[in-house]
Amino acid sequence: MKPAAFDYFRPSSLEQALLQLAACGAGAKVIAGGQSLGPMLNMRLAMPSALIDLNDLTEHAYIRDRGASLSIGALTRHEQIAESWLVQARCPLLAQAAKTIGHYAIRQRGTLGGSLAHADPAAQLPLIAMTLGAEIEMANPRGSRRLPASEFFLSVMSTALAADEIIHCVHFPTAHANEGSAFQSFSRRHGDYAIVAVATTVLLDQGRVLRVRLGLSGVDSTPAVCDAMVRPYLGAVGSAAWAADLATAVGAAVAPEDDARMPALYRKELTKKLVEQALLHALDRAKG
Ligand SMILES: Cc1cc2nc3c(=O)[nH]c(=O)nc-3n(C[C@H](O)[C@H](O)[C@H](O)COP(=O)(O)OP(=O)(O)OC[C@H]3O[C@@H](n4cnc5c(N)ncnc54)[C@H](O)[C@@H]3O)c2cc1C
Repeated sequence: MKPAAFDYFRPSSLEQALLQLAACGAGAKVIAGGQSLGPMLNMRLAMPSALIDLNDLTEHAYIRDRGASLSIGALTRHEQIAESWLVQARCPLLAQAAKTIGHYAIRQRGTLGGSLAHADPAAQLPLIAMTLGAEIEMANPRGSRRLPASEFFLSVMSTALAADEIIHCVHFPTAHANEGSAFQSFSRRHGDYAIVAVATTVLLDQGRVLRVRLGLSGVDSTPAVCDAMVRPYLGAVGSAAWAADLATAVGAAVAPEDDARMPALYRKELTKKLVEQALLHALDRAKG
């Protein structure tokens, strides 16, 4: 099937893109990597009146170290994030997860901004943004605003992004020296979206667990962050038994829906196993 007809614009700056988006009205959409929007156009699940192509906004593909955070431009491709030594060193969870997105060709085109705006509940980058408490910066004709990921993702493929807004930058907190992280996921075939994915960071102080960040995808309509579930497990010695206990508690607490592909019980068991594996890897890395 071919896409329905649309007008096409290729601005050379963010300011021009915003003006064009506003001028085209609510029927217009921006396109970045096209790895999600392209198939939707072809299947006519999306029929925008105009496409504003962001691919000439090359100055918005960058990774900058700000100390407590990495600022990453919205046009940065998944593969650039996965391969960046800066991301691997300062925000390893993000690099680990980006490496697992789809296939090489998809990672070469897909962008950070596109993945967050698309908000697929099974996607890696929304999960990492939620787990780490990233902040998303959006430009609009009136200026710019910055939202925590927890306020950005509303539901399945639904975000707080307004029709006249463009994501231009995302700020990810950087890892502490005594912190280990791990990303674990399970999918039926290599390159498929994960059925369940787990992202975690564990911060140790003399062997005791000072902080755990734990995020899950595949169990709810947006990535779930388990702050309340991990709280009783803080202060304990980080060990295999500790990881197993926390994983059992998380597996018991999640309440995914049954769907046509698989029963909820399968996702619960998968969650328990992946959480345990992720915590063990993160503990090992935190111990250095
Ligand atoms: C076969 C296949 C397998 C895949 N597997 C995975 C996977 O395992 N995990 C995964 O996470 N993803 C996967 N993807 C999706 C891929 O990661 C996409 O690249 C990503 O979801 C969207 O990024 P994009 O830059 O291609 O966005 P586009 O497709 O260009 O746009 C997607 C949406 O975001 C909007 N948008 C784009 N950029 C911006 C911006 N800067 N500001 C505001 N709105 C914007 C568009 O208007 C559109 O609504 C897969 C895709 C394919 C085709």
